[in-house]
Amino acid sequence: MYETKYHRASTVSDAAAMLKNADDGKLLSGGQTLIPTMKQRLAAPSDLIDLRHIDEISGITKQADGSIRIGAATCHADVAGNADVRAALPGLADLAGHIGDPHVRHMGTLGGSIANNDPAADYPAALLALGATIETNKREFTAKDFFTGMFETALDEDEIVTAVVFPAASHTAYVKFPNPASRYAMAGVFVAKTGSGARVAVTGAGQNGVFRMPDMEKALDGNWSADAVASMAPAVDDMLSDMHGTAAYRANLVTVMAKRAVAAAA
Ligand SMILES: Cc1cc2nc3c(=O)[nH]c(=O)nc-3n(C[C@H](O)[C@H](O)[C@H](O)COP(=O)(O)OP(=O)(O)OC[C@H]3O[C@@H](n4cnc5c(N)ncnc54)[C@H](O)[C@@H]3O)c2cc1C
Repeated sequence: MYETKYHRASTVSDAAAMLKNADDGKLLSGGQTLIPTMKQRLAAPSDLIDLRHIDEISGITKQADGSIRIGAATCHADVAGNADVRAALPGLADLAGHIGDPHVRHMGTLGGSIANNDPAADYPAALLALGATIETNKREFTAKDFFTGMFETALDEDEIVTAVVFPAASHTAYVKFPNPASRYAMAGVFVAKTGSGARVAVTGAGQNGVFRMPDMEKALDGNWSADAVASMAPAVDDMLSDMHGTAAYRANLVTVMAKRAVAAAA
């Protein structure tokens, strides 16, 4: 690991100023991705700006319209165990409860996960399926505009994710086929019955990261059942292929995970 300077921010504007004043600064949240990357000398930020002690971006609130607002520095374990999330969006609580292992869930954060946008990360599927809004220190994004490709987002270099707002949904479920070593998704499907109809989002399988399955959504609008999606799969050519599984294997996993998620949400 190369030498770096550590800064503990206590407000978002503090953090923004620290980042601006650094030569090549990086925001640090749970450190579950950034610190291993630094240890391997694949990243060498001059300064680390720690967001974990900023109260204004931590915690979970149920809002008057039924939506759930989660601060960016909230760890996965807190999302998984929160009573409001479990009651309103059980699929989201379940998703957070199956990220990595207990260490990762108590250190890793929602903001760090979505800013990193690993193609196998779980949260992007929930944000896209539920039509979540991402709040930053500069503006708001829809999930559709936020995730722009593998490890890519629409964030500026100096932009800080502050919270995510998840609209209410009557039914939610997330089912993934985890990589047995890391627990990252080889294919993960989040399904939701929302005010604007059925939504299906897939992570872990696509070459460009998270994506929706419009055909499955249309079928589920007419008939919310596992059978309705049983013959539908994404195009094999668009799937990831690596040492863990071929593109055809992942396309098939999407169908299987979608069937299980629809059954679970029913
Ligand atoms: C062994 C292991 C298993 C894992 N398994 C899973 C899994 O099953 N599913 C899954 O989804 N994930 C998994 N993860 C990843 C985990 O969820 C991490 O929490 C996540 O990748 C990064 O979150 P973090 O808070 O640790 O971010 P950090 O590592 O601190 O930061 C990651 C990146 O995001 C930037 N960043 C952090 N916070 C912000 C912010 N608020 N605004 C803007 N940029 C920000 C940082 O500058 C950095 O570039 C696993 C990780 C490990 C080590």
